[in-house]
Amino acid sequence: MLKVAKFGGSSLSSSAQFEKVKNIIDSDPSRRVVVVSAPGKRSSDDNKVTDLLYLCNAHLKYDVSYDSIFEMIEERYMDIRKGCGLNTDLDSEFETIRSHLKKGMSVEYLVSRGEYLNARLMAEYLGFTFVDAADVICFRYDGHIDYNRTNSGLVQALEANGSIVIPGFYGSLPNGEIRTFSRGGSDVTGAIVSAALGADVYENWTDVSGILMVDPRIVSNPKSISRVTYDELREMSYMGAAVLHEDTVFPVRRKNIPVNIRNTNKPEDPGTIIMESFEEDCEGDISRFITGITGKKNFTTVEVYCNHNESVSKLLQSTLGLCDRYGIEPEMLSSGIDSFSLLFPTEKLEHSKYEFAGELKGTDGVDNMKVQDNISIIAIVGRQMAYKSGISGQIFQALGEENISVRMIKQSADEINIMVGVSNDDFARAIKTLYNSFA
Ligand code: ASP
Repeated sequence: MLKVAKFGGSSLSSSAQFEKVKNIIDSDPSRRVVVVSAPGKRSSDDNKVTDLLYLCNAHLKYDVSYDSIFEMIEERYMDIRKGCGLNTDLDSEFETIRSHLKKGMSVEYLVSRGEYLNARLMAEYLGFTFVDAADVICFRYDGHIDYNRTNSGLVQALEANGSIVIPGFYGSLPNGEIRTFSRGGSDVTGAIVSAALGADVYENWTDVSGILMVDPRIVSNPKSISRVTYDELREMSYMGAAVLHEDTVFPVRRKNIPVNIRNTNKPEDPGTIIMESFEEDCEGDISRFITGITGKKNFTTVEVYCNHNESVSKLLQSTLGLCDRYGIEPEMLSSGIDSFSLLFPTEKLEHSKYEFAGELKGTDGVDNMKVQDNISIIAIVGRQMAYKSGISGQIFQALGEENISVRMIKQSADEINIMVGVSNDDFARAIKTLYNSFA
């Protein structure tokens, strides 16, 4: 059994957080590979080390002294070293970075030092071997990962050392220069490492107990989702839920390695498992068919009623042509016998709303049209809703009992997402109502 455990910045922001990480690793001998981010914020008004490193680079570029910022960075690591009682020779590490700063270096080298130093400290603390990402995460010059070299390097590193710590966020080009992923890229490192080593699970340790069923700003203390598929995740993030981006975990997705989102501050919580699909065990209780509820505000609907000179499909075609000319793509579309409606994010229509509506009104075949602003879309997502009866009934009953009027209805073709449009004023109330009805 092999688990790859990746820890985010908030899990590594101080020596107290390091201690929690050590307890987590020590409690399970299969956690033999650890990927770390740079230290994150210790409190809401603190700074992330990576941000400080970017700031250092900006000072350097404009020829302003970066000393005080660099000292803040040094202090972060010294505090962790002291708090954990470690001996890692930070002075010589800082000296090397300072000398690169003086003679000029790439910004990618500089910002990668956040993860590099954290991994050095963590390796000593855990008694694992430090493996530099520059030696095992191999980029090609086109910016893509060279999987052959990367995979064999990682396998060798683990075989030779048994248990390893690897800094996230960066790797190197064939000429040895440091190359970073985009911001938040330690998640990608964790996924590449898990896939290369054929891990049984990729644990992504953060500061929440998994993906929540609804936005906690709308419902306090919502339940977290125990299992979610990539398709559901995609529907939820598209509709505004802030969840791990599926692209970042593409290497593990391809190998069907489960991703387990866990909370470093509450390691007893099982968190959320993400997989391509699950063998379902859910019969009976319909509340368990819902995975999550998300939504977005501020849409505009354009309803078009046809006269009988033109068929709905012809008129729809010319309307979509008009949308194309205005560069406004509808996000949803529903049609009936002699009318259809299009849904746009309001901000996309902002600049050309009147011209667009005027031109549409004058189009052959249009009898009448209506434009309505302040519409919210709420998505009820659940792979287990597909081909089941009773879910939409419960949705409309719950909303009806709260006197929330449904302005639009849509279901995705695969039936894992039912979307309802409500007025912006009813947005939060509708989400709460649906959560209470299903959770
Ligand atoms: N430290 C990097 C960042 O802040 C990468 C990461 O934490 O994933 O973007």
